[in-house]
Amino acid sequence: MTPVPTDNQIKNWLDWSADQLSSIIDDPRQEAKWLLSAMLNCNLSELQLYHSEISKESAEKFEQWIKRRSANEPAQYIAGWTEFYGRRFNVTKDVLIPRQETERLVDVAIYTFQELDHPRLIDIGTGSGCIAISVAAELPHADVKGQDISLTSLAIAGENAALNKLSNVTFVQSDFLNDYPPRPIYNGLLMNPPYIPEDEMDSLMAIVRDNEPVQALTDHHDGLTFYRHLAKYAEKWVFSGGWLIVEVGLGDHPQKAADYFRTNNFSQLEFIADFNGDNRVLKVQVQ
Ligand code: GLN
Repeated sequence: MTPVPTDNQIKNWLDWSADQLSSIIDDPRQEAKWLLSAMLNCNLSELQLYHSEISKESAEKFEQWIKRRSANEPAQYIAGWTEFYGRRFNVTKDVLIPRQETERLVDVAIYTFQELDHPRLIDIGTGSGCIAISVAAELPHADVKGQDISLTSLAIAGENAALNKLSNVTFVQSDFLNDYPPRPIYNGLLMNPPYIPEDEMDSLMAIVRDNEPVQALTDHHDGLTFYRHLAKYAEKWVFSGGWLIVEVGLGDHPQKAADYFRTNNFSQLEFIADFNGDNRVLKVQVQ
């Protein structure tokens, strides 16, 4: 075991960190470097080029961070932020860590709505606000609303909109499964709902299960509650001719989710694959 460094040489601190993390992650040095650069507020190449020593204070803080990471806490929660669609998002344990797969949903939303002059869009279960904010940033003429049942999530989403200097996105508290607008007012509805079935929660990776908000992961049922509800009530939200763009899970989950739309007579159904070739986005047109 490499002992805790007694000096302030970055190289020694990275050696120690890599050793601490080697049993829980594949590329421990890379992750240690990311954490250190996040702490010093620089990027990885700046870390390499300009930094060889850290202050005593930073070294103490870094030691704590690596201890947290070796107790299997995600690096993004430790640093307090992550990147999504090329932008920075603050994250705490109250919100899901934005995933790379979800960037595909943002791509689909952009190409679906870019031709409209002033699209009005809603992001259900906005969490950190990553979807709503990315779409609002890429489509400056859009008017995007993010809603969530959790007030703590909404506070973080609001913080992220300010961090990204956006004024065409707003956030509101609402319970999707029990409320809907008085009349349909949206051209599109975006959603990355909690879709892990309750009985798969135990087999989820421990780092996810033990750290991320349960409410953002599972519907405590079959992982299909939000799709079932949307297939039934879509026209309460979205104008006729508008689009629903939702993330789906793995295995038979995409087909099961799509079946609710098929049996509710939605005609235009399309799956869009992520970069691994998995169908991760379902796009459906409202009649
Ligand atoms: N919309 C947020 C995201 O995609 C949160 C999703 C959720 O909490 N299920 O990351």
